Amino acid sequence: MVNAAFSFIVFIIFFFSLSYFPSLAYAKETAETLYNNARNDYYSLKGSKRKQAIKSGWTKNINKFLSVSRRFPSSSFADDALFTAGMLYYDSFKKFGMRKDLNSSIQHYSMVVKKYSSSSLADDALFRTGDIYFYDLRKYYKAKKAYTKITTKFSKGDMYKLAVERLNELSSFDNSRVPNRIIAKKIIVIDPGHGGKDRGAKGIKGLLEKDVVLDIALKLKKLIKKKLDYKVILTRNNDVFIPLQERTEIANGNKADIFISIHANASKRKDASGIETYYLDFAKSDRALETAARENKVPRSNIDDVQYILADMVANTKMNDSSQLAGIVQNNLIQGMRKKFKRVKDLGAKGGPFYVLHGANMPSVLVETSFVSNPIEGKRLRSSKYRERLAYFILEGIEKYFREMQVALKTK
Ligand SMILES: [Zn+2]
Repeated sequence: MVNAAFSFIVFIIFFFSLSYFPSLAYAKETAETLYNNARNDYYSLKGSKRKQAIKSGWTKNINKFLSVSRRFPSSSFADDALFTAGMLYYDSFKKFGMRKDLNSSIQHYSMVVKKYSSSSLADDALFRTGDIYFYDLRKYYKAKKAYTKITTKFSKGDMYKLAVERLNELSSFDNSRVPNRIIAKKIIVIDPGHGGKDRGAKGIKGLLEKDVVLDIALKLKKLIKKKLDYKVILTRNNDVFIPLQERTEIANGNKADIFISIHANASKRKDASGIETYYLDFAKSDRALETAARENKVPRSNIDDVQYILADMVANTKMNDSSQLAGIVQNNLIQGMRKKFKRVKDLGAKGGPFYVLHGANMPSVLVETSFVSNPIEGKRLRSSKYRERLAYFILEGIEKYFREMQVALKTK
């Protein structure tokens, strides 16, 4: 009797304790059963080619894993379930080729990294994200970012060594690929200064700037066509007048990669000589101001207004590229011309307030090829050979510039 009463009490206690903590017992079991259920499904999918052929089977399995992480986000199965969903999305992409699945794969791997950064699967998820960017999407920059994060944030993890290997592989792979993208046909707009009613500078023995620069530009176009696979557009092919702002509009409209305005210099001082290349900026010298005033067709006394207008353009990002382009073209011109001609004065690459460069969306420079007003250079500018040389060394400068930009892009 005592035993029976005791048994009854034990039973009652047991019964009430169960009803008192049902959610706890139920929850722990459910996260696990849900997960195991999804796992079993996974193995049966992986074990059957017939099941794999049906897309909805994949979706169903993925959803089973996702319900684990959604319903029990703080359980020890949540990170694993998310990770497996990422894997399944990837395998599904490989099987059915739907880009949407690839994006979902990245998305779920990223959730593992973001929500469960201390999980042992976080660096694996990051690594797989990197691989998708690297091999499937060829987004090298993003792949690099993922691998780099492993080497910095998960340097103690087991993916560290592999991530370093991938980064090495990526650097050589990336470099060999980048030129292909850059080789996409370059567009060069060449602008022979002046034309028509605007004769430009008048030189010795009736030599006109507008004629000289048109010929140099035509020669340059011919050389580029022959030597490089660039698209060349001239702002004028003959002796016509074109307003300054229309010239950059032609370059912008054609989405040019660079804009090169070709001019010949002049000075009241007959002995002034040399080659100089300008990019748009404040003038830092009197000579630059003088040249800009002449090319802009404004009196020297008004050029300060132009400088003022330029004040809000200094932040333009293209200015850096333009000064780089100016430097490379100028150096190449000087080095090249000096090989063929004596006393070629290097007046440098510099900033100046030139209207014609204003508003260009691409690196743009203005080359003052030589002085029509100088007796020696004026004579040289008359010769076809000299003009041909000028054109050739400008072309080499353009080529060098693109090569350097390519290197800069690779090492970014
Ligand atoms: Zn000019």
